[in-house]
Amino acid sequence: MLEYQYGRGEITLQSADPKIPPMIANRFCEDERDLSRLVSCYQDALAFTTQKPLSDIITQIRFPDPMRSTKTEDLANLCRKFSGSGFHPCGTLKMGNDLMSVVDQLGRVRHTDNLVIADASIMPFVPSANINLTCIMIGERIGEWIRIQPATYGL
Ligand SMILES: Cc1cc2nc3c(=O)[nH]c(=O)nc-3n(C[C@H](O)[C@H](O)[C@H](O)COP(=O)(O)OP(=O)(O)OC[C@H]3O[C@@H](n4cnc5c(N)ncnc54)[C@H](O)[C@@H]3O)c2cc1C
Repeated sequence: MLEYQYGRGEITLQSADPKIPPMIANRFCEDERDLSRLVSCYQDALAFTTQKPLSDIITQIRFPDPMRSTKTEDLANLCRKFSGSGFHPCGTLKMGNDLMSVVDQLGRVRHTDNLVIADASIMPFVPSANINLTCIMIGERIGEWIRIQPATYGL
């Protein structure tokens, strides 16, 4: 599992109608640095399975199929085909002060009054961890700011 990856996906609005879902292109493994690290992880994991004491307790390898090739290019194709988000997408409306940022340091949407975002979408980069705790921290932090300084949020 890559906790940090170089590749970046893309989310595109298909319509101004909020009921129409956006297009999400994850683009996993398109960055060669991500792909090569995943493949080396596979190769290391497979090498571990042949060594004691692990080999003594393994009765069967289910994935990748041991009957298939484990050459680098074949493992790379496997990663391209099966890689997923692990349910941790984030950073689609990132916090910051550059042209690509959507919210400011308080979670307020730029150029839009009275709209605040406090969820995984505002992470400016992908944390090197599963993101649930980070989401809770963002919610708690911005919730507290809204409570103690409501005027900053137009309340
Ligand atoms: C199956 C699964 C397992 C996971 N396991 C882990 C784990 O083990 N560890 C970990 O760290 N993270 C885990 N995650 C990731 C983590 O749970 C999420 O990244 C996190 O909950 C995202 O928080 P969020 O506030 O950004 O979005 P969400 O938690 O998705 O909250 C969005 C909220 O907005 C509401 N909503 C949506 N549309 C509207 C609308 N139009 N109007 C009003 N409300 C709306 C939804 O009902 C929801 O309550 C897992 C995620 C999944 C799906």
